[in-house]
Amino acid sequence: MARQIAIYGKGGIGKSTTTQNTVSALAEAGKKIMVVGCDPKADSTRLLLHGLCQKTVLDTLRDEGDDIELDEILKPGYKGTLCVESGGPEPGVGCAGRGIITSINMLESLGAYTDDLDYVFYDVLGDVVCGGFAMPIREGKAQEIYIVASGELMALYAANNIAKGIQKYAQNGTVRLGGIICNSRNVDHELELLKAFAEELGSQLIYFVPRDNLVQRAEINKKTVVDFDPESNQANEYRSLAEAIDNNKMFVIPKPMVQDRLEELMMEHGFLGL
Ligand code: ADP
Ligand code: SF4
Ligand code: MG
Repeated sequence: MARQIAIYGKGGIGKSTTTQNTVSALAEAGKKIMVVGCDPKADSTRLLLHGLCQKTVLDTLRDEGDDIELDEILKPGYKGTLCVESGGPEPGVGCAGRGIITSINMLESLGAYTDDLDYVFYDVLGDVVCGGFAMPIREGKAQEIYIVASGELMALYAANNIAKGIQKYAQNGTVRLGGIICNSRNVDHELELLKAFAEELGSQLIYFVPRDNLVQRAEINKKTVVDFDPESNQANEYRSLAEAIDNNKMFVIPKPMVQDRLEELMMEHGFLGL
């Protein structure tokens, strides 16, 4: 059985970049991986596909009805990765979360979840704390969650809310938090703050990804850093993150904190640490 991993985090925090770089590093190490983009923006697989504009599952369903072939929605990307974008309803119409489940069900019925897969990654827009975007957790599709955050209050606020969602669905299901990934914004004392935040949740800071402009340079070239500049430090950072996830044994039901405690934590480890 493939490990089914969902990456959550506030919009713009670096979920898609971090996911695709981690996936590239895992693919480089010989793992077989499917990536399912669950953000209506449908930009979760762009770097793996070298910019190829992928038709989403929902658009394909809309245009062609239920009679679709797997290769219309599942595209081969970097080093044998398999890429899908679930897409979204037209803005203002319908539930984006339902779209995610429609897509996953379609992939299941078309036989996309093959036995040779080591991993399935879901890249999910997670700052919308609604039932819709919790679907992959709620329906038991993803068992292992990583939250991307930084030392900024809004990122931690979103991460704490996502932890609330995981806690709720973990009671009656198998979903667990695997850790917090810090995607650095170069905030003062960010490492200490993120470690303290993860521990307060009863989890771990699984990796600290430095901020590096090479990420943007690779992005403009429609590639992950691992693909664009494999010898770089940043590529090695993503390889280490991939290894940390591959070897992870710590899966918990998180203990989210009240807003006051979150702010206190920021004062203790962020500002007062100056
Ligand atoms: P999300 O998927 O969470 O909305 P993205 O992965 O699209 O976020 O990232 C948003 C922007 O931040 C992108 O332009 C990306 O290049 C940039 N970015 C992400 N991670 C890093 C990093 N470690 N260093 C520098 N820039 C980064
Ligand atoms: Fe939108 Fe979420 Fe409500 Fe669905 S559940 S309609 S995605 S707010
Ligand atoms: Mg994204």
